[in-house]
Amino acid sequence: MKEYWNPWIERMPVSELEKIQEKKLIDLVNYVYRHSDFYKKRFDEAGVKPGDIKSLEDLQKLPFTYKRDLRDTYPTGMFCVPNEQLVRFHVSSGTTGKPTVVGYTQNDIDVWTTSLARAMTSIGVGRGDIVQVGYGYGLFTGGLGAHYGAEEVGATVLPVSSGNTERQIELMQDLGSTVIACTPSYFLFMNEVANTTGISIKGETQLRVGIFGAEPWTEEMRRRIEEFTGIKAYDIYGTSELSGPLFTECMYQDGIHIWADQFLIEVIDPVTGEQLSDGERGELVITTLAKEALPLIRYRIGDITVINRGECKCGRTHPRIMRVLGRVDDMLIIRGINVFPGQIESVLMKIPQVGEHFMIVVDRINELDVMKVQIEMTDEAFSDKVNDIMALESKVSSSLKHVLNIAVKVELVEKGSLPRSMGKAKRVIDNRNL
Ligand SMILES: [Zn+2]
Repeated sequence: MKEYWNPWIERMPVSELEKIQEKKLIDLVNYVYRHSDFYKKRFDEAGVKPGDIKSLEDLQKLPFTYKRDLRDTYPTGMFCVPNEQLVRFHVSSGTTGKPTVVGYTQNDIDVWTTSLARAMTSIGVGRGDIVQVGYGYGLFTGGLGAHYGAEEVGATVLPVSSGNTERQIELMQDLGSTVIACTPSYFLFMNEVANTTGISIKGETQLRVGIFGAEPWTEEMRRRIEEFTGIKAYDIYGTSELSGPLFTECMYQDGIHIWADQFLIEVIDPVTGEQLSDGERGELVITTLAKEALPLIRYRIGDITVINRGECKCGRTHPRIMRVLGRVDDMLIIRGINVFPGQIESVLMKIPQVGEHFMIVVDRINELDVMKVQIEMTDEAFSDKVNDIMALESKVSSSLKHVLNIAVKVELVEKGSLPRSMGKAKRVIDNRNL
């Protein structure tokens, strides 16, 4: 098994990587200014000329781009190449408003595939593995992204797509899948379905690695998944605007390596837009250094994280982003306090009696925000005694209050009654119409 996909790039000294980044950034700024009316106008409005960008420090002079820019220029107003150079489109559904369209040249597909090949190699996936892709195929980038990456490293792909859960488990057993790629919530559902049909993923499949993403999940959830199913669970990161899923943690599960020769990352204060120092928590901003069709400059991806440029035990010199706490958009403001669904998940998963599925319901009653968390009990802890139920509700409620500093009503609901997801889990119902 290969240790690195491209040892020369992956272990390159940081100073050399920065030289590559600087050169690519200068080229990129000239490229977008010449090829995209959108960027020319955006730069002109900000009073920046391509010639002003001479080093990585000058990055801060460049204006941000936003998801709304992609919507405002729908479908292809930000593209830098004519349609005949495109080999593919992907379209994100967008939970609100217009969808966003991403176009790819052949080179864009190759860069995307290389990124995933490096990532998969870093978690020990390669020739001999059978990679079951349970992400949706189609306009969504998850399925095809994982598919191309797995083929590139020489693995055998089982393109099941999402859904068909009984069939997923049957094929996993019959064909001996060693790797599963899907959302963590879907894998938990798969495990639940397997258990109800008397199949143990831990004991009766060859599964050893999970590549989980497309929704935020916590360290506590990882521990549960690994304990229940006996696999190593890795976080994968990316978003359709950047191409799709692109990066994973390495074997050490201590942050996601972002390939510095392809992407330039910064963390900013989401309110002021000021660049923060490494180690400070803020909003991730990404500049694509290698994309042709739809390059993004200082793209406000909306995820809250911390950059770690420290040396990684794996020997890779590329910076890591630490586990994403959530998206700026997902942050709930409850009575003036910021709450991320991930914080709630962390608390819940530390309590052994609480199952993996939960729902946060927010209402405004008499001008006051009221948050309720619905949970299920695990099979092991199951009890229908009123005292046990009340004791658990109150335990969860006080744990949540301790972490969030707000009162949370906890409601234990019948096992199986909360919605299960085959894609991105919906964790919040906000009835406030803010
Ligand atoms: Zn590493």
